[in-house]
Amino acid sequence: MTARERLRRILNWINLSTVCGLGIARARRCEVRRGSNGLTFAFKYTGRLPVASAFTVGNVVLFRASPENIRPQLIAHEARHSTQYAACLGLPFLPLYFLGAGWSILRTGDPASRNIFERWAGLRDGGYTEKPLRRNRRRGKDGS
Ligand SMILES: [Zn+2]
Repeated sequence: MTARERLRRILNWINLSTVCGLGIARARRCEVRRGSNGLTFAFKYTGRLPVASAFTVGNVVLFRASPENIRPQLIAHEARHSTQYAACLGLPFLPLYFLGAGWSILRTGDPASRNIFERWAGLRDGGYTEKPLRRNRRRGKDGS
């Protein structure tokens, strides 16, 4: 674990976001294991939301899949979200993330493509593709 990852882990303990992540993992009866990069992995998440194949709360990455089916790029993506939690002082990350998702939906119809948090975490690593911007609705159909 690097010094930066150690700092992230400490900050996410202090801001209680990791505690919330562990609580979700426990409530959903996930298989919890020590992960790479100072993260904790929780496998076989079964909750209805979010729809994503994985999501992060503090230093806890919750996966719907079993350990053998996790892409390394997805772990890197989720680790960046963990850093975003630390930078946002914990749970304030969530409303900021949803603002980003709303902005992205307005611009593209997709919650990830223009969401600044997903872009910083790496769209491709997260399994997302960049969607084209919607045309300005005030313009005519021909774009004029
Ligand atoms: Zn993501």
